[in-house]
Amino acid sequence: MSVIDFTKTPVAELFGSNCFSNAVMKERLPKNIYKEILAVQAGEKELTLAVAEVVAAVMRDWAISKGASHYTHWFQPLTGLTAEKHDSFIAPTGDGKVIMEFSGKELVKGEPDASSFPSGGLRATFEARGYTAWDVTSPAFLKQDPTGTTLCIPTAFISYYGQALDKKVPLLKSVDALSVQAIRVLRALGNETSRRLFTTVGPEQEYFLVDKEYFDKRPDLLLTGRTVFGVLPAKGQEMEDHYFGALKEKVAGFMRELNTELWKVGIPAKTQHNEVAPNQFEIAPVFLNSTAAVDANQLVMETIKTVARRHGMEGLLHEKPFAGVNGSGKHNNWSMATDDGVNLFEPGENPEANARFLLFAAAVVEAVDRYALLIRASVATSGNDHRLGANEAPPAIVSIFFGGPLTEIFDNIAEGKSGGKTESGSVIKLGVTSLPALPKDVSDRNRTSPFAFTGNKFEFRMVGSSQSIATPNTYLNVAVAQVLKEYADKLEKAPNKNEAIQNIIKESYSKHKRVIFNGNGYTDEWVREAERRGLPNVKNAVDALSVLIRSESIALFEDHGVFTKEESESRYHIYLEKYSKQINIEAGITIELARRVIFPSVSDFSAKLAKDAAALAAIGAVSSAQEKRAKRIAELTSELFDETAKLETVLGEAQDTADVQAQAKAYFEKVRPSMDNVREKVDALEKLVSKEAWPLPGYEELLFKL
Ligand code: ADP
Ligand code: MG
Repeated sequence: MSVIDFTKTPVAELFGSNCFSNAVMKERLPKNIYKEILAVQAGEKELTLAVAEVVAAVMRDWAISKGASHYTHWFQPLTGLTAEKHDSFIAPTGDGKVIMEFSGKELVKGEPDASSFPSGGLRATFEARGYTAWDVTSPAFLKQDPTGTTLCIPTAFISYYGQALDKKVPLLKSVDALSVQAIRVLRALGNETSRRLFTTVGPEQEYFLVDKEYFDKRPDLLLTGRTVFGVLPAKGQEMEDHYFGALKEKVAGFMRELNTELWKVGIPAKTQHNEVAPNQFEIAPVFLNSTAAVDANQLVMETIKTVARRHGMEGLLHEKPFAGVNGSGKHNNWSMATDDGVNLFEPGENPEANARFLLFAAAVVEAVDRYALLIRASVATSGNDHRLGANEAPPAIVSIFFGGPLTEIFDNIAEGKSGGKTESGSVIKLGVTSLPALPKDVSDRNRTSPFAFTGNKFEFRMVGSSQSIATPNTYLNVAVAQVLKEYADKLEKAPNKNEAIQNIIKESYSKHKRVIFNGNGYTDEWVREAERRGLPNVKNAVDALSVLIRSESIALFEDHGVFTKEESESRYHIYLEKYSKQINIEAGITIELARRVIFPSVSDFSAKLAKDAAALAAIGAVSSAQEKRAKRIAELTSELFDETAKLETVLGEAQDTADVQAQAKAYFEKVRPSMDNVREKVDALEKLVSKEAWPLPGYEELLFKL
C-alpha cells in the first residue's frame, strides 16, 4: 500500500508522470517531429518509419529514465481483455554486454505470436502472425509493479492479411467514417473550419469490492466472477442507505490509491462514490477522445483489481455477481466534437448553433431507432443477460430519454410549427431564432433510460461493467454515420439550407420519435407500450447477436469501411463462442460445488441432526419442528442430487453440439435454466442448514463485511 503525501508531491505534478503524453512529447521531441505526430493524431498523415525512429528513441530514454526494462504492445483482442507480450530493451553487443535498444520498427509494429487469440476462423494457425501497430491517438504509459516497470504501447492488432483481430481497429475506422459524414453535414451548414470530427467518451464504471478472505473461499467468484449460489440476508438493499453514503475507511484508502495510480498514467479519475447495492462502487474519469477513453477504461478495470488486492479485497467487475441485488454496468457518456473544439451536442447560443444541435440530435434519434438491434447487440454478453430486463437495470428495450423541453421543441418542428416555442411563447425559426435555454439535465433525473440525453452528451447505459467499451462505441458511430450520410446527401443538393434542415428534422423525427420515451423505463406498462410502438425487446444475448450476420448489417459495416463481410461473420462466431464458454465454466463450477462441497456438508449436517434426534428420542424429547426440518433437508438434498445430474446431462449435450449457433442456444435454453434449478435447491438448503455447517461464505459476509 503506497501512501502519497500530496504536500510533498502535488497532484498536478503526479498527474501523468507515468504517461508519455503530448506534453511530454512536446517537451522532448524535435519541433518538426512533434508537429508530424500531431498531424498523424489528427488523421492527416500516416506515421512514417523515419518519424517513428525518432519517437522510439525518445520514448525509450524517457521510459528507461523512469526505471523501465521492458516494453509491451498492449492490445485488446476479441476476448475483451487486454493482452500484453513483454520484450526487454536489451540488445547484446557481442562482447558479453548489452545496450538498451528500441527502434521505430519496434514501436510501430510488434509481432505477437498470437495464434491462440480468437479470430473466428480468419487466421489459420499455421500463419498465426498478427501485427500490432501503435495507436498514436492513445498515449503510451508505464505500468509499475513491485518488481519493475514496463513501457506499455497502446496498439491496434491486425492479421497478416490486414483483417482486424481486435476491438481497436474497428473503433478507429468507425470514428473515421463518422468524421467523414459529419464534416460533410457541417460543410453543408456553412462550416469551413472544422477538419475532423472525433467522439468523446467518459465511462462511469461500477464494481463491487469483497473481502479477500471470503472471496478466496468462493471458487465460483474466483473462476466466473459471480456467485452461482447464495441467498440474501435479512438486510438487502431495500434501505438504499449505501448509495452516496460515507465511505468506509478501508474503501476510502483503496479509492485514494486507485486514484493515485490512475492519475500517474494520465487518467483523470474524478468522481467516486458508493452505489446502490451494498459494497458496490463507481468511478468516473473525465471524458477523453474515444480511443484513449477505451484504453483508459481497460486500465481502470485492471487497476481496480490490482489495487483492491493490495488492500485485502477483490474487485468484482461482473455484471451480476450477486442474485437479488443490483448488478453493475457502465454508463458510456458519448458526444461528438470537432477538432476546433465544438461539442455538437451542446445546445447553441446562436441560431446557427441551434440548427446544428437539433440536426445532429435528430440524427442520433434516427440512428438509435433504426439500428436499435445493433445497439442492443453491442452489449450482448452472458454477464449482461443477468441485467438487461431485470428490474433494477436498463430494460432490454432501446429507447431515448430526451426530457420534456427538448421533446417539445422537436414535437413542434414535426408538427410544422417551424420550430419550438420559447419560454416567452414566441416561435423558433430554425437558423433564425435562438432556442430557449434547455435546463441542464442531471442524468439521475431519469435513471431508467438506456440512452439518455444529459445536457450536452448522450449516456448509453446498457453497457456491461466488465465489457470493453470499444464495440458499443463502434456500432453507435457507424449507425450515426449512416444517418448523417443520408442527411448530407440531401443537404448538399438543397438550394435553401434552412428549409432543408427544417424538412430533414421534421421527416426524420416524425418517423423515429417512437424511440423517445421520457417515462419510467422499469415499468410493465412501458414494456407493453414499447411493443405497441414496435420497438424490439431482445431479452438474451444469443438472439441479440444474430443481427450481426443479417445482410443489412453486413452491408452497413462494409459501406463505412469498418468490417468486411468476413470480419462481421467471424465476430459473430467469436461472441457466440465466448458466450458458450462462459456458461460452460459456470455450469461446471455449479456441478462441482453442488456435488463435492454442498452435498457432503449437508449430508454431514443431516447425520448430526439424526444423531441429535436419536439422543433426544432416548429421553423422549423429540420436537416436531426438528423432525420437519430434518425431513425437508433430506428432501432437498435428494432433489439437489437429481437436479445436478440433469444439469450434467444438458451440459454434456451442449458441449457436444458442433454448430456454434446451436451450441450457444443450447447453453442459453437448456443449461442456464438447469443451473437455476440446482441453485434453487442449494439456496433453499442454505436457509435451513446452520450457518456454522454451511461450507461457503454467505452473502452477508460477501456484501456487508469489509
Ligand atoms: P452524471 O450526472 O452522469 O454523473 P457527469 O457530468 O458527472 O454526469 O458526467 C459523467 C461522465 O460524463 C463523466 O465521465 C464526464 O467526463 C462525462 N462527460 C461529460 N461531458 C462529456 C462529453 N461532452 N462527452 C463525453 N463524455 C462527457
Ligand atoms: Mg451518469
